Amino acid sequence: MPIDKSWICKPRNTIEYANGLNVFLDIAFQHANGPVIKCPCAKCGFKKWQTRDVVQEHLTCTAFPQNYKTWYLHGEGSSVIESMVATSAHVIEDLLESQNPMEDMLNDAFGFAGHDEDTEADDLQTNMVGDEGKTNFDELMRDNNEPLYEGCTKYSKLSFMLKLYHIKCMSRMSDKAMTMILELLKDAFEHAKFPNSFYEAKTVITKLGLNYVKIPACPKDCMLYWGEDNEGLEECKRCKTSKWKNKDKKQYAKILRYFPLKPRLQRLFMSSKTIESMTWHASKDNQDGLMRHPRDSEAWKSFDLLHPEFANDPRNVRLGLAADGFNPYGNMSTNHSIWPVVLIPYNRPPWQCMKQTSFILSMIIPGKQMVGNDIDVYLEPLISELKDL
Ligand SMILES: [Zn+2]
Ligand SMILES: [Zn+2]
Repeated sequence: MPIDKSWICKPRNTIEYANGLNVFLDIAFQHANGPVIKCPCAKCGFKKWQTRDVVQEHLTCTAFPQNYKTWYLHGEGSSVIESMVATSAHVIEDLLESQNPMEDMLNDAFGFAGHDEDTEADDLQTNMVGDEGKTNFDELMRDNNEPLYEGCTKYSKLSFMLKLYHIKCMSRMSDKAMTMILELLKDAFEHAKFPNSFYEAKTVITKLGLNYVKIPACPKDCMLYWGEDNEGLEECKRCKTSKWKNKDKKQYAKILRYFPLKPRLQRLFMSSKTIESMTWHASKDNQDGLMRHPRDSEAWKSFDLLHPEFANDPRNVRLGLAADGFNPYGNMSTNHSIWPVVLIPYNRPPWQCMKQTSFILSMIIPGKQMVGNDIDVYLEPLISELKDL
């Protein structure tokens, strides 16, 4: 039943206003997680947490904000908030249920159903990730079953290395620092099974399968040395610039780093943590007409009408593409700059798809100048992969 909100526009000394305010407070505190809510008065501006008495006083002395019609910050039937609470509870449950998160992660990553000897599942498995994937999986599993040192129950060889690598990435530690730390650890704890070098750690991590390919490109952005026709060429078809910076050392003049999309999408559907969110866009219809997600837009809806076959299966992936140049060395006077191209999976709910961790890095284009329209050249592998899908 819709809540009567006509009182918001009434003078503050009327009985309607006082009653209405009480209804608002009832709803807000029913949904609050404690004795305080964010006060909507002009002074607190939805930022300060106040008790019921204080909020009531503030909203009697100053007006209730007139355009706050859906009380979504105060628990009013917003599907977004409800499903948000449901999702976080789900994630916690997942964590509690899982006895060995590392094993689960490997199973998710390689799409393994279990540890049984079921040959049918095994075949399916091999079909999905290929023989190479299966060997990698076996090797990683072995590392995972090997304790870091004798008697260690907390860390396996693999989980320790992943934790360390995670710290390296989060704190932007240099490769050199990582190598030095590994050397120190190895020196201090002789019996522990640390990786021998940073290089070895990296090889193990690449086995998890999120690799990139290097594709040589014309330094003037005319073409990629990619695909059957162009792969073997030595100079650009259009401007005749050489493919090489230094042919003897096998250095290319310009390299595009391309991150294949398919394994990344597979990963999204394989992981128990993300598969549910991949059909979110079709699950709850937005009734209030507010724009919260691209699926609420006219463009999205008319696309569905034009391509009913695609729209019928909510698992079909909708991606947004964004590119921006940034200077990795922080100093704008140096002329190193790279252009990352990022894909955003719009299947997922708004509070997930715009998170940095959901972004799919598609490629890194090096270059001093903005590529502008020449970006088409670089998007070629991505477009071909999308067509394939
Ligand atoms: Zn206030
Ligand atoms: Zn060229």
